[in-house]
Amino acid sequence: MSVAKILEIALRTGRVTRRYPYEPPLLTPEFRGAVKIDPSKCWGCGACVKVCPPNALTLKPAGKEATLEYFVGRCVFCGMCAEVCPAKAIEVTKEFELSATSLEDLKSRVIHRLARCSICGAPIWTEAELRTVVKSSPIAEEYYLVCPKCRKERFAKAAMLRLGAGSE
Ligand code: SF4
Ligand code: SF4
Repeated sequence: MSVAKILEIALRTGRVTRRYPYEPPLLTPEFRGAVKIDPSKCWGCGACVKVCPPNALTLKPAGKEATLEYFVGRCVFCGMCAEVCPAKAIEVTKEFELSATSLEDLKSRVIHRLARCSICGAPIWTEAELRTVVKSSPIAEEYYLVCPKCRKERFAKAAMLRLGAGSE
């Protein structure tokens, strides 16, 4: 295409770009920016962590707590975490101005207290998830408050007792 032709089209079309940052940028309805986690809704189930392709989300237990951390520096803004979150705790915002002077400023955290096994004291689930599951299930809370290892041992003991009783 000749320069004259390009000039003609440009004059006809006018300016199509925005003078960002002096003007607000044009964001489409589909635009995805950083995600925001609502700590009052999050259970700490870890579903978002499992689907996050670049590991921008992590859930790590330490002592009496488990920390869900979002590192926006690694996020690719795919929105998959928000899609799978059963608690609807993740919002995909249109926030894209994310520069910061320290790595810490690019991280946000939700801290959960861990429930412990009522038999051996080992950490099992987050208290928030335990409350949610117990509320939506007819199975007793005491069943959920036992870690898989103790549950297995309890089951094995009960089975042995039953076998012993049957052989008499
Ligand atoms: S409740 Fe939602 S935000 Fe919280 S850990 Fe589960 S999937 Fe992630
Ligand atoms: S938007 Fe995508 S990359 Fe970013 S935290 Fe969610 S799942 Fe991970």
